[in-house]
Amino acid sequence: LFISFEGVDGAGKSTQTQRVHAYLQERGLRSLVTREPGGTPAGLAIRELVLHGMASFPSLAVTGGTDVVDSTDDLAPRTEALLYAADRAEHVAQVIRPALDRGDIVLCDRYLDSSVAYQAGGRELSADVIRQLSLWASDGLLPTRTYLLDADPSQSKQRLDHEPDRLESEGDDFQRNVREAFLRLAEEEPDRFVVIDASRSVEEVWLQIQHDLDGLIEG
Ligand code: C5P
Repeated sequence: LFISFEGVDGAGKSTQTQRVHAYLQERGLRSLVTREPGGTPAGLAIRELVLHGMASFPSLAVTGGTDVVDSTDDLAPRTEALLYAADRAEHVAQVIRPALDRGDIVLCDRYLDSSVAYQAGGRELSADVIRQLSLWASDGLLPTRTYLLDADPSQSKQRLDHEPDRLESEGDDFQRNVREAFLRLAEEEPDRFVVIDASRSVEEVWLQIQHDLDGLIEG
């Protein structure tokens, strides 16, 4: 059983992922919590690069006399899309597939839908291309269930105010596009997605997830 959690920043994905993990353990079921980007050592390096730019790699600073041209810290959108895909390829091959083969339940905080929502919805690359790229990277592996924690980005942002370094640097329009892209994806695959109103309390969100999860485990 492979479950992913999706949504804009601050929607409560990590909290609910941990909640599900604890619940499964109570029921004597083995589960593995992981996330993207950054679910493997190589993925952590990719995470640093995509989220914090070359400042994370001071030893690679461009020095005089080389042919490497110093560019802006922003990666080109296609570069970014390929890096997320590389992170996913490594994650699926080294972590997710082996865990599923062992019979573990895999709980993943962000997966392929984040790529479509952020790189296509947010950055305006083609959603089809990003999806195909992601499916190639993951060797076709899709989650059994995806919980979309849907929230108005301006509200969910407030939840992140105590973690300023995690605040998304993109503007409100970008975040709104990402939210809409997630909702479109959920409409396209209603059997995989469960859309949850994440403006409600942690407890209410959890109860909705628990209800669906019980059906998945027992079914
Ligand atoms: O959820 P987490 O804090 O790990 O995500 C970090 C950031 O990575 C998100 O805010 C989002 O901007 C970005 N991201 C992305 N494309 C993905 C996954 C994450 O742009 N496929």
